Amino acid sequence: MSKEKELEELVRRFLIIIGENPDREGLKETPKRVARMWLNELTLGYRVNPKDYVKVFEVDEYLRYGDMVIVQDVPVRSMCEHHLLPFFGYAHIAYIPNDKVLGFSKFARIIEVYSKKLQLQERLTQEVADFLVETLNPKGLLLMIEAIHTCALIRGVEEPMFMITLASRGVFREKPELINEALSIIKSKLADLKKLST
Ligand code: ZN
Repeated sequence: MSKEKELEELVRRFLIIIGENPDREGLKETPKRVARMWLNELTLGYRVNPKDYVKVFEVDEYLRYGDMVIVQDVPVRSMCEHHLLPFFGYAHIAYIPNDKVLGFSKFARIIEVYSKKLQLQERLTQEVADFLVETLNPKGLLLMIEAIHTCALIRGVEEPMFMITLASRGVFREKPELINEALSIIKSKLADLKKLST
């Protein structure tokens, strides 16, 4: 049996166990749809190599000044491994290049690859930071992810729904004042995310 078919059967079974009738009109196509979504979209990260999305530019002498590059508002959409429910928000990257920069849109692709599997926001942040350091060999890098966790939102529990995670590498670890500098430039999107929960 194909993986898709197998997953389809499981979803059908799941619907029965929670008390549904998988043969009713609205649910007829659901097992197929859910199986396809999980295999083709939500878990793409298990089968794709983020290196395929890297386009690095060797850069010129202007970078020797050691100034910061900030890439803001990169969408993050992932699935929480504890509940199999989405968490989503934004990533912001600050880095000080050595001799390489990354094509602007590639940040989004790399984050997408690491997001499209079962994740923890904490791990996602560290994994993406490590990959970017390996790829760009920057003097320093700071990655901030802010996200709303629908597992908390949907259950209406009295627990935090928003999480901010940081990963710092290189000079950002050696000089914490650089973190403050980066965070004073980065515009948090938390207020936007909070609107979604009220
Ligand atoms: Zn969760």
